[in-house]
Amino acid sequence: TKFVYDFTEGNKDLKDLLGGKGANLAEMTNLGLPVPPGFTITTEACKVYLESGAEPVALRDEVSAHLDALEERMGKKLGQADNPLLVSVRSGAKFSMPGMMDTVLNIGLSDKSVQGLAKQAGDDRFAWDSYRRLIQMFGKTVMDVDGELFEEELEKAKRAKKVTVDTDLDAADLKKLVTRFKKIVKTEAGRDFPQDPREQMDLAIHAVFDSWNTDRAKLYRRQERIPGDLGTAVNVCSMVFGNLGPDSGTGVAFTRDPASGHQGVYGDYLQNAQGEDVVAGIRNTVPLAELESIDKKSYDQLMQIMETLENHYKDLCDIEFTIERGQLWMLQTRVGKRTAGAAFRIATQLVDQGLIDEAEALQRVTGAQLAQLMFPRFDDTAHGTKGIELLGRGIAASPGAAVGKAVFDSYTAIKWSRSGEKVILIRRETNPDDLDGMIAAEGILTSRGGKTSHAAVVARGMGKTCVCGAEELEVDTKRRRLTIGDIVVEEGDVVSIDGSTGKVYRGEVPVVPSPVVEYFEGRMHAGADDADELVGAVHRIMAYADRVRRLRVRANADNAEDALRARRFGAQGIGLCRTEHMFLGERREMVEKLILADTDTEREESLKQLLPLQKQDFIELFEAMDGLPVTVRLLDPPLHEFLPDITELSVRVALAESRQDSNENDLRLLQAVHRLHEQNPMLGLRGVRLGLVIPGLFAMQVRAIAEAAADRKNAKGDPRAEIMIPLVGTVQELEIVREEADRVVAEVEEQTGVELKLAIGTMIELPRAALTAGQIAEAAQFFSFGTNDLTQTVWGFSRDDVEASFFTAYLEKGIFGVSPFETIDKDGVGSLVKSAVEAGRATRPDLKLGVCGEHGGDPESVHFFHEVGLDYVSCSPFRIPVARLEAGRAAS
Ligand code: ADP
Ligand code: MG
Ligand code: MG
Repeated sequence: TKFVYDFTEGNKDLKDLLGGKGANLAEMTNLGLPVPPGFTITTEACKVYLESGAEPVALRDEVSAHLDALEERMGKKLGQADNPLLVSVRSGAKFSMPGMMDTVLNIGLSDKSVQGLAKQAGDDRFAWDSYRRLIQMFGKTVMDVDGELFEEELEKAKRAKKVTVDTDLDAADLKKLVTRFKKIVKTEAGRDFPQDPREQMDLAIHAVFDSWNTDRAKLYRRQERIPGDLGTAVNVCSMVFGNLGPDSGTGVAFTRDPASGHQGVYGDYLQNAQGEDVVAGIRNTVPLAELESIDKKSYDQLMQIMETLENHYKDLCDIEFTIERGQLWMLQTRVGKRTAGAAFRIATQLVDQGLIDEAEALQRVTGAQLAQLMFPRFDDTAHGTKGIELLGRGIAASPGAAVGKAVFDSYTAIKWSRSGEKVILIRRETNPDDLDGMIAAEGILTSRGGKTSHAAVVARGMGKTCVCGAEELEVDTKRRRLTIGDIVVEEGDVVSIDGSTGKVYRGEVPVVPSPVVEYFEGRMHAGADDADELVGAVHRIMAYADRVRRLRVRANADNAEDALRARRFGAQGIGLCRTEHMFLGERREMVEKLILADTDTEREESLKQLLPLQKQDFIELFEAMDGLPVTVRLLDPPLHEFLPDITELSVRVALAESRQDSNENDLRLLQAVHRLHEQNPMLGLRGVRLGLVIPGLFAMQVRAIAEAAADRKNAKGDPRAEIMIPLVGTVQELEIVREEADRVVAEVEEQTGVELKLAIGTMIELPRAALTAGQIAEAAQFFSFGTNDLTQTVWGFSRDDVEASFFTAYLEKGIFGVSPFETIDKDGVGSLVKSAVEAGRATRPDLKLGVCGEHGGDPESVHFFHEVGLDYVSCSPFRIPVARLEAGRAAS
């Protein structure tokens, strides 16, 4: 295998092998854009290194050959004393992992070659600045020296000279700094800073390989569901210098605004600076538009290149560039991250520009983004009232409305959020060490850094609200407070941050629904202003999705109100109506009587009381869903859930006895509670088992459904009821229930003279049901996969218990990347679903198939259900748009 590719050899489709950065550097090189020459070491080499602990044998020679070619081309040799070639060693995995991996610049500098560099550039200061940067970066990322130590030394040097920015240090200062930095390395790492340039390069390459497995990188991958075994590529790129004086500089740019999608000039530029300076917020950047007056030629060229890139990638790109003495160099590009709203806008804008078609537009947005757009927002009219104070305004870096208690460090953020508090993490700027705190927080607020700062990039990736660069706010992390003028916000005070406007408030700002939800609710239509523009884009994308999707989308809804909302959100029926809520409230007493009944007459009496109530519920539901299918599940939970708590009742009875004042009813109740008490109710007397042992219960429910349907028909309605039997494990159970149900339906038909055609089917939520689906299909007209219970029973764990107990540990250990209750476990539960689908259809080709677990609204799961050929998914009303969109994406 070939382990090294020159930039001229790769292309953008080789991300698996060359990583995102390497693939795109190659693509830009081949587009004829100005990219400093270099080469990429493949992820394959990294994998070998990580697996075996040593780089592949062939790698060294291949690197040497590419280095020779690079030296020849540049007319310099790596680290040569009089005319040094310098390179950067840059990580670059398949998926961009901001701030996770390490890059080292200026490799090749040494005590000798620093002189050569000074002569080459005719600039002493520049050479020593580059050298001190190398020792600092190399020391930190390759030799594991605490970066703070270098920072402190740099601060000291500035203080001693009474200056505030690093550019005010001259060559002599920097030279002294280099001596100090080398001393730090020696003390901390126990060895000298390596003077051999090739050794520097090799060590840096290994450090990049190793950085794949830092805790931070692992955490990020788990969060983003990036597989752990991809490895990273390493890019070796000849250096260009943005720190060669005021006609040099470095910057970042977007081809469109990543927050709104609007075209224009978006980015930050910093004169006389190198690499990370821009994103680290070391000095204040200027908006990219100002580059036009600083260096018109480079600016025009950059605009030209951005247009080329957009037309080539047919998408928003982000860019890193450097200007060396008036010469523009491209150092990175990639399809840029964007906010959820921008994703929808950009997708439709690109369709209008003729760059992509509708099917492609669907691939440019995700259900997760749509879900994010459905979050509520702050009520703009509310400040000025009740202790809400506008503190200031930063950059709207990642949308959403977040309210929480102010915390000033990651540790407190984690601690407080674990104890159930909502927190806002406030920092001057964030760095990768803050990642855990950012995950724990509701939102992130920083006082420094632009749209491309660490906080902004990471928050956008996580879909977390973020306001950054709120410069008026003075953040004092040591004293744990924030000041602005004479207002002081202490740790624990409530703050509200608006990631869509950048506004920061003290106090709890009330929230209002999102315009996208208003649109789905039919209360808002596409028009002209900003929110309307977003709604217009969502409207179009949803229309594409609805046009192409094969899966139908139903709702889990138990009452008319939810059913109506679901319908507005696009539901094509109800896939799961749970009947247990119809047994609560005032009806509880009747249920108690039913459970306590000693004789058939008593039992029939309470069933008779319940019947009209149930019937009325169904009439309302069928009316709300007129013309669409409504799947009603007969009673599922164990009966004891309808009885009082065993401890409370025991105490009450004991107390009464001690007062010799026993209540006959309480005693009977207690007996019943004892009789029905189960060690594992989840696996006990519930579902179809209840229907088989409580005479008349299911018959009453079926009668209520049938009579309600007959009523609706008589009222010229179009009820489409389907009766669903829960927790079936064997076809015999279903046959017995069906016989009774068929009899009841026939009776109702005869009594009312209305023909009903009610479908009867079952849930598939036990492994045995899935395994014998072929037999069960003989008695079922439809299957609905109850993937919540199926997940519990296939894995053998109870959702109510395990999520709080060991799931965190499992997620941390990477046993699963995401809870199997959130995204269907394709290999286990999913394969059972798949074989049950096949077996069921083999028995009954027209068997209707759906799913009604939480998974019905989960994007990844929806794609799976599409693939295995279900007819519909059913999910909570709020997830319906997400399911519609993902069903469309799956089919396009
Ligand atoms: P990241 O993945 O963190 O963005 P990069 O490898 O892109 O890391 O490096 C960070 C920055 O370092 C780049 O944006 C660029 O400004 C600077 N840089 C990297 N390589 C070079 C180079 N060969 N010449 C000049 N600057 C470079
Ligand atoms: Mg970069
Ligand atoms: Mg169930």
